[in-house]
Formats: sequence, C-alpha cells, structure tokens
Amino acid sequence: MPDCIFCKILKGEIPAKKVYEDEHTFAFEDLNPKAPTHVLVIPKKHIAGLKEALSEDAELVGRCHLTAARIARERGIEDGYRTVLNVGPKSGQSVFHMHVHLLGGRLLT
Ligand code: 5GP
Ligand code: ZN
Repeated sequence: MPDCIFCKILKGEIPAKKVYEDEHTFAFEDLNPKAPTHVLVIPKKHIAGLKEALSEDAELVGRCHLTAARIARERGIEDGYRTVLNVGPKSGQSVFHMHVHLLGGRLLT
C-alpha cells in the first residue's frame, strides 16, 4: 500500500526503532509511547484493520499476538502487560494497517 505509513516503515522508507522481525511480523517502538514498553506489532501483509481481516488472515492475527507475547517475555514484563487492537476511527485507530499495541512496564489501571 503506497500511502500507508506502516508499509513505508516495513520498506525502510520511514525510520523506526525495530524491535523484532520474522517472516510474517514486524515490531517497532511506538513514536509516542504511553508506557515504558509501547511496541507496535504489524503483519508484513497490509491488512487495514481487524474488521478487514479475512479468515485466511487468521494465522497472521494470531502471529501478531504471539510476537507481542514473545517481546513481553524478552523484556521481563510478564507480570502484567496489555495488548490492544483499536478497530475503527471511534476506537482511536489512526493508522489503517492493522497493529497490536504491546503496553507494559508500569501498573496498567
Ligand atoms: P492507533 O491509534 O491507530 O491504534 O495507533 C497508531 C499508533 O502509531 C499510535 O500510538 C502512534 O503513536 C503510532 N505512530 C503513528 N505514526 C508513527 C510513525 O511514523 N512511527 C512510529 N514508530 N509510530 C507511529
Ligand atoms: Zn500498510
């Protein structure tokens, strides 16, 4: 998707602090962190959001969450973290390339 900022991050056209990458997923630090750990995990395939995901994307949706769990384990924040998927403008979704927020490293109320 040429105008998608997260596709541009994937292609290296916009700089980002990479946290993790595998065949299907990519993770990077959120530009405006809301917690000591605030990482965004995206599928390498452009999917606009959860509501646009197809049943053939089920594995990718799961892989994004498992990548978040892996990063939480590596960072030692397994005593409490949150994964968030904003869906649609009224939820606060502002980037329309599906992403899982991984938030942790502080008390989450
Ligand atoms: P949303 O509100 O769509 O769920 O989350 C989008 C997130 O992407 C926000 O937390 C925002 O800070 C982050 N973000 C937006 N643009 C960029 C960018 O260019 N680089 C990085 N690293 N994060 C971004
Ligand atoms: Zn994209």
